[in-house]
Amino acid sequence: MIVMKFGGTSVEDAIAIRRLVSIVRSQLHRRPVVVVSAMGRTTNGLLECSRMAAGGDTLSAQNRLDEIAAHHFKTAGQLAPPEEIESLREALGRRFIAVRAALEEIGQTGRITPRLSDAVSSNGELLSSVIVAAAFRAEGLKGVWVDVRPMMRTNDDFTRAAVQFEIANPELKEGFNAALADGGVPVTQGFIGSTADGVTTTIGRGGSDYSTSIIGAATGADEIQIWTDVDGIMTTDPRIAPEAAKVKIISFAEASELAYFGAKVLHPSTLLPAMVRDIPVRVLNSRRPEVEGTAIVRQSPPSRAVVKAIAFKRGITVINVTSDRMLMAHGFLSRLFAVFDMHETSIDMVATSEVSVSMTLDDTRHLDAIVADLRGLGEVSVERDAALICLVGENLKFTPGVASRIFSSIEEINVSMISHGASAINVSFIVDGGSVERAVKSLHCEFFSELDEETFEAAALAQTVA
Ligand code: ADP
Ligand code: ASP
Ligand code: MG
Repeated sequence: MIVMKFGGTSVEDAIAIRRLVSIVRSQLHRRPVVVVSAMGRTTNGLLECSRMAAGGDTLSAQNRLDEIAAHHFKTAGQLAPPEEIESLREALGRRFIAVRAALEEIGQTGRITPRLSDAVSSNGELLSSVIVAAAFRAEGLKGVWVDVRPMMRTNDDFTRAAVQFEIANPELKEGFNAALADGGVPVTQGFIGSTADGVTTTIGRGGSDYSTSIIGAATGADEIQIWTDVDGIMTTDPRIAPEAAKVKIISFAEASELAYFGAKVLHPSTLLPAMVRDIPVRVLNSRRPEVEGTAIVRQSPPSRAVVKAIAFKRGITVINVTSDRMLMAHGFLSRLFAVFDMHETSIDMVATSEVSVSMTLDDTRHLDAIVADLRGLGEVSVERDAALICLVGENLKFTPGVASRIFSSIEEINVSMISHGASAINVSFIVDGGSVERAVKSLHCEFFSELDEETFEAAALAQTVA
């Protein structure tokens, strides 16, 4: 069997969902499990409603929710089999009643607790999956709606819950095998799970990719397909460099680095479960299903390209700690890292000199407390709105002179914290937030201008054949 995930744009309206049905139909012989995200912009919309409710603006929250509801009812009406329209409307209506109840609770207390945030934002996937399952039935397929929550067991760290694999894996395997019986096409939700007490959780923004890979690994799928709005993993975000080309084949290690360092096309944790079970992952365009997409495999074939792709992440915070006490002293770094450990915050990049340490953070929820504690160790300064740029490619291990190519192509941009990590397949550094687009464009031009997509693919292919 295979697992096919369709992101927000791939389920955004009736036209997109009809395309989805025809893509799935063409692979029915592979026994697909279908995982869907919320319809485009719904998760953001629901979170907006929460914020409006918390701010006391009940009317705006109500209006925003009405817009979301109208779009769902309209799409359901366009897609459902006639005999199901009434029951589908009732099912959607019950969801919106649940959302309203959670928003009311937020309004009463003026606080969006993580638990209430999940009680609201989890509904996007619950709504879209009900509509998609009905769309399958309207087209003569046996769409089976599967509630993933009782199977996808998580802890209670709401809004970023961790999946408890020892419980989730056997449940997912059994649940989806049952749903696949007799030609069923299971349709389920990404992004959500539930605690041991049955309270709904979410696993972090963009998490539907990760859910899919977890389901793929648990069920022993032959392939995981991530259907999105671009042709695959591209040499960089096409929103920044429209000339970006598709990367035809990439290794798990390379794609993981890209995802971790900001390539939104995959949630950072997506590849872990697939890697462990060695399940190939493909990234495909639901608007152009005829395009082959990107294959993510254990080992990518040798290629001429020095850099496979460039990722970047905005909104990075850099913390610098300077202290004479570091000089010749041992134990300093361990005390420093203990502060981050205590505040459950992970560091992305570190650079040290004799008397200073610089670290980057993505997660700034505990920044003030961290800075207060770090002051006990030395002088602390914080730079906000920095950006991290990361060039990835297995060939970075072997190619001399790359660093000079990288930094001369962006010589007018101020660069700090350069790291060529232990994995040796990435070179990362920090620039200020205002320069990130310019830097990415220049780097893309430096490393990809002579390789148009065909050459790039041909080079990889020739090497595979050899
Ligand atoms: P989905 O809703 O399908 O999960 P996302 O918006 O989360 O889609 O991810 C797809 C987007 O990721 C693309 O539209 C593109 O702008 C962005 N992106 C960033 N880096 C890359 C990259 N290297 N390759 C492809 N897309 C990228
Ligand atoms: N709908 C969720 C989000 O917008 C999960 C996802 O799309 O992957 O974050
Ligand atoms: Mg996504």
